[in-house]
Amino acid sequence: MTRDMSFWISEAAFVRFQSFCDHVLGVTLDHVPTQQTIFMRQNFSVLFYATILFLMTNGFYLVRNSMLDDSLPIDMIPLYMMVSASLAMLFFSAFYKDYGSPLARFAQLAFYTVVIASVTVFMVSCNYHKIGLSISMCYLFAIMAAPPYKAIDTVVVCALIVASWWLPGQLPYAENYDLLKHFLLRFSVVVGLIALRSIFLRQTANERTVMGMSNSFLKLAYNDVMTGTLNKKAMDTYCKYIVRKLAPEKVSVIICDIDNFKSYNDHYSHLKGDEALKHFAGSIIAVLEASDRYLFRFGGEEFVIILPDADEEEARRIAVELLGAVRAAAISRDDLPGRSIVTASFGVACGSCAELNDLSLVAKADKQLYLCKSGGKDCVAAGDTIYR
Ligand code: GH3
Ligand code: MG
Ligand code: MG
Repeated sequence: MTRDMSFWISEAAFVRFQSFCDHVLGVTLDHVPTQQTIFMRQNFSVLFYATILFLMTNGFYLVRNSMLDDSLPIDMIPLYMMVSASLAMLFFSAFYKDYGSPLARFAQLAFYTVVIASVTVFMVSCNYHKIGLSISMCYLFAIMAAPPYKAIDTVVVCALIVASWWLPGQLPYAENYDLLKHFLLRFSVVVGLIALRSIFLRQTANERTVMGMSNSFLKLAYNDVMTGTLNKKAMDTYCKYIVRKLAPEKVSVIICDIDNFKSYNDHYSHLKGDEALKHFAGSIIAVLEASDRYLFRFGGEEFVIILPDADEEEARRIAVELLGAVRAAAISRDDLPGRSIVTASFGVACGSCAELNDLSLVAKADKQLYLCKSGGKDCVAAGDTIYR
């Protein structure tokens, strides 16, 4: 999934959301691969099939020649070079999948270099006229391996085509040179490779857009846009997941609510209030280290944590830890006498899956929260007892 998000989400919340998608929704939220990685993967797949094709068509001559003759004829050197490079590329693209890495890029360029070198050796050994072809092929291979295609590339390619068309005529043995035939050959190679390249680039853009969009839909559906925590829909999904899939003997719920937040808003403005809310949520997420502990925004400044298989004692311990984390975040305020930082109250309740299913467990935790509020706030309440 791209971090270029349509709304703010902290790194810790993002990791938690990835885990939520993996475990609860059962979908994988991947990072969208870079344009270069996709492009290189497509390039490798073409090389893979071209290699198989080359080995099938030329392997026959190689085997026959090496069986008939022990010596290494000069004309066979390019073929040996091509076959070795092709075999190496076949193994590489079959077993190495990290296409975005510098090693993959190096392998691809090395392969192209050997191919160009062997084509050139072959051309030189049998026919000077085709040197021009290998010159234009050099540049074409280079642009195939270089993802950011620039307009100037087209100009250089055209110049090379003209040069490679003209150059062979200047070389010895030029009397048999068929200008039109060679031009058409070169032209079709150039057009074919440029067309392939633009198809690749379009596919790359499409793949990235589709992946990015499906990630964005998931993100928007299950996250709270303002705080970057999971939303109420995600909480419903998580409750169903716990009841149907995990079915633990007991479940605990912690509900927390910022103390006197209305006064904070009235004094500092809603905009500042939003900032404080984000900061508050961030301080809680930082404490919920285990990846299966999620923070859901339940209402305005109320958040819920659901702990499958945690008893009341364990849930209370976590709530006390969260109380400390909110105090440690020390979001300052001076709108109320006797309070210099933003604090919160935490209600804890433990019950069965059935109680979670009908949300009566959340109501039970809410009752404990009211106990905190009437008991002076900035505390945890569990089993009708207040902990500070
Ligand atoms: P208590 O200690 O009893 O919880 O007092 P309180 O003022 O926090 O309680 P109450 O529930 O009456 O008020 C909640 C306030 O939270 C109301 C609203 O101004 C504020 N609030 C709710 N959602 C948001 C939000 O998204 N952004 C901002 N800035 N404020 C919000
Ligand atoms: Mg409140
Ligand atoms: Mg409230």
